Amino acid sequence: VNVKQNLQPTSQGPGVVLSAIIRGEASTKSAIEAATGLSRPTVAERVRVLSEAGLVKETNRRMSSGGRPATVLEFDPRSSVSLCVDIGEERTRVALADLRAEIIVETVLEIEVAEGPRAVLSAIASAGRALLAGDEVAGSPLGGVGVGLPAPVDFGTGRTIGWSVMAGWDGYGVKEHLAREFGVPVYVDNDVNLLLLAEQRLDWPDEQHLLFVKIGTGIGSGLVVDGRINRGSLGAAGDIGHAHVSGYGDPLCRCGNRGCLEALAGGWALARDLRERDPGYAEVSSARDVVATIRRGDPDAVALIRGAGRILGEAVAFATSLLNPAVIVVGGELAKAGDQLMAGVRELVYQRSLPLATKNLIISPSRLGEEAGVLGAAFLVADELLDPDRIDRLLGTSPVSGRRKETAPVAG
Ligand SMILES: [Zn+2]
Repeated sequence: VNVKQNLQPTSQGPGVVLSAIIRGEASTKSAIEAATGLSRPTVAERVRVLSEAGLVKETNRRMSSGGRPATVLEFDPRSSVSLCVDIGEERTRVALADLRAEIIVETVLEIEVAEGPRAVLSAIASAGRALLAGDEVAGSPLGGVGVGLPAPVDFGTGRTIGWSVMAGWDGYGVKEHLAREFGVPVYVDNDVNLLLLAEQRLDWPDEQHLLFVKIGTGIGSGLVVDGRINRGSLGAAGDIGHAHVSGYGDPLCRCGNRGCLEALAGGWALARDLRERDPGYAEVSSARDVVATIRRGDPDAVALIRGAGRILGEAVAFATSLLNPAVIVVGGELAKAGDQLMAGVRELVYQRSLPLATKNLIISPSRLGEEAGVLGAAFLVADELLDPDRIDRLLGTSPVSGRRKETAPVAG
């Protein structure tokens, strides 16, 4: 897994040396000199501070690079661990991951967001502390916390914004709460952005334009443009669940408006439609329940999910014309219905888009499992903690006199 593939170093401090090692571009001091253009004494100094910080190990494994054997430098992904949290409407997953976003240990909390931020975040803090006390992470300190919330999030402040299913959370300082608990940097994002991040890194690392649609209880989407997640001006980019779709009736949505995409095709809406159709479906209430009825081959449920796929396809076709993605990935609980959903999405996207927009377009169901949210949180924390500018701020960028002329480092 390539942790920092989008990274564009802007300085000549230890950050750029670390990123060269992480990306596998250089694993000896002389290779780092060649890759970065830094002088030998500067590289030696950068490696020294990175080693002292525990980020780089000088291993005994020696490799010959044509000349005399040189000590091999390795990034230590266990120099710290990340607490990764995927808060869902009905349950929350808490995991510890290393700095290459490998999950080390995890647990699932049966707690609903409706219980409010204090109860949920306290439960997360307790679970996190229990995982950190385990033998699996012995010796690795906590480096940062990453959290995904099922709501639009202001990434800078880590607060939910606008209407969401998280009643009682609006404006709550999620970031501050967890920073008080753990005393490390905390990064909070919309859950769909974290799913998108995991998709991009694990399944589509070479794609620069990716649209991810999550269809679960509600519907959301996220966007990678030029290789980077686009959060929009307020963090509401991709919040398509509450876009209006005409021609299918105007049922009341959870947000108070009528005819929203998720009021027509979201998991809660399909459960509603099934209950209205037949008293036999009285117990169907969640996206999970809907998928279970589809898997039993229930014809009513199969017809509904096909229709939902076409309605979703209308919205996705519009987004396709607007954004020209190379790949559209459909994830979330209802995507587990597989072809029943995807057929409708494909049909409408190809029908409603111009040939150029769909020329090389790939439309794929997500292949990631239940861990996708915490994996995305792990990538988010690793990206932030290993950001070259941050490394430079922490470890210093003082120039070292050397043979080659160097430009002054850019202060972070
Ligand atoms: Zn709505």
